[in-house]
Amino acid sequence: MKHAPLVDQLIHAFTCLPGVGPRSAQRMAYALLDRGREQGRRLGDALHAAMDGVQHCQRCRNYAEAELCPICESPKRDASLICIVSTPADVLAFEQSGEYLGQYFVLMGELSPLDGIGPRELGLDVLEQRLQGGEIRELILATGTTVEGEATAHYILDLAQDAGVQVTRIAQGVPMGGDLEFVDGATLAQALRARRPFES
Ligand SMILES: [Zn+2]
Repeated sequence: MKHAPLVDQLIHAFTCLPGVGPRSAQRMAYALLDRGREQGRRLGDALHAAMDGVQHCQRCRNYAEAELCPICESPKRDASLICIVSTPADVLAFEQSGEYLGQYFVLMGELSPLDGIGPRELGLDVLEQRLQGGEIRELILATGTTVEGEATAHYILDLAQDAGVQVTRIAQGVPMGGDLEFVDGATLAQALRARRPFES
């Protein structure tokens, strides 16, 4: 038995999502067609609106609905302090901490030559221009500690040093309230290397 063409089309469309294979896609399509017509219509509307209305902020590359995102547009944020992160989710994490008043640069990935992700794909040519422009005082590196994250951090370090811009890196280490026995060795070693004087 074959599906009706529109059902097939729907199933196929779901397979574009990360981690969704043909069987999961089929389950999703059936669920919406059987019991979720209204949610399905809302999903379609949300997809349409986002695909047409979301762009990348021209300063920081985060998702935005205008040329600049609210953070880059805010006069309260220090434009001379830029935190480099890999994804928009990282920006949210920093914002939730409420501690950071600088701006961001969102790479939307990390260097991964085998996957065809080079400096241009991460907007590093744009970052280099901004660094050379002289408005940035300090770059804070907050990329991941994977091999790709490290390679990305070192590439950006070179760009910043060429431009004479100070670079710092967030301390990596032991989570608050975490038990040391659950922390992996690499994290613990990094936390040890990044230790600071203990003061009252
Ligand atoms: Zn922005």
